[in-house]
Amino acid sequence: MFDNLTNRLSGVIKTLRGEARLTETNIQEALREVRMALLEADVALPVIKEFIARVKEKAVGQEVIGSLTPGQALVGVVHQELIALMGGQKADINLATVPPAVILMAGLQGAGKTTSSGKLAKWLMEQKKKKVLLVSCDIYRPAAIQQLELLARQTGAEFFPVQAGQQPKEIAAAALNFARRHFHDVMIVDTAGRLAIDEAMMAEISELEALLKPIETLFVVDAMQGQDAVNTAKAFSEALPLTGVVLTKLDGDARGGAALSVLHVTGKPIKFAGVAEKLTGLEPFHPDRMASRILG
Ligand code: GDP
Repeated sequence: MFDNLTNRLSGVIKTLRGEARLTETNIQEALREVRMALLEADVALPVIKEFIARVKEKAVGQEVIGSLTPGQALVGVVHQELIALMGGQKADINLATVPPAVILMAGLQGAGKTTSSGKLAKWLMEQKKKKVLLVSCDIYRPAAIQQLELLARQTGAEFFPVQAGQQPKEIAAAALNFARRHFHDVMIVDTAGRLAIDEAMMAEISELEALLKPIETLFVVDAMQGQDAVNTAKAFSEALPLTGVVLTKLDGDARGGAALSVLHVTGKPIKFAGVAEKLTGLEPFHPDRMASRILG
């Protein structure tokens, strides 16, 4: 996914051979290569600018210690800064509330909300031993409700049946009552997405957020979306108090820049990554592992 960065950096390591330390001048070319690689990976421009500035600040003047070559020292700084850019520490899902802990899934149509809701239910049941209720508020696409019902059956999570004619807010309120009465630990609420940002969609999900008071409001975004992911992330984070991000389709041949841009834009950590279409294809996101993957 980031082959270019790896290739470009290995070239840079060669050019820095024999230098005693990293200086403003001798890292110019290296930083240009990093910049190019990030541009090619579709990372948003403001993110690149800030990233390069931070790498420069950390690297220039650094004594090259021990057996490290200046090139290796620079790659080390790039590695550390990539981790920082993706949030530093792994961010756990927060369920610390009076049950049911409500998780609201937000995002555009096709981002992977419904699939991720099912995967998350499975993960919470298996890894955290939680009793999970799946709820669909997507009344505009009956297929979406059926898709979630099927996922519930496949995972063994309970599915909240929607009555014909019920509006999203009514579904949400009834599901919350149901989850309380049946002692569900977690209630995952899938919402309607549109193909593009749209006022009605934002108004509806804001109302659901106000009613449900979710402990987690997760923004689901497709890693293959490239630059568009940044604009979408911005709109959702302005409309909703997001608590985290689910980055889907990392298994695709995404240029992956989204992973580096969404945290910068939303200020919220990536909590999960979608790594396969199948139900086991959701993993907690580890910034350090992702940085290592990027650097090859
Ligand atoms: P929604 O409209 O946001 O609910 O999106 P869906 O959950 O229906 O997902 C849209 C498509 O993306 C489906 O075909 C999913 O199987 C696929 N998908 C979702 N997450 C992933 C993932 O992590 N990897 C892959 N390869 N496909 C995914």
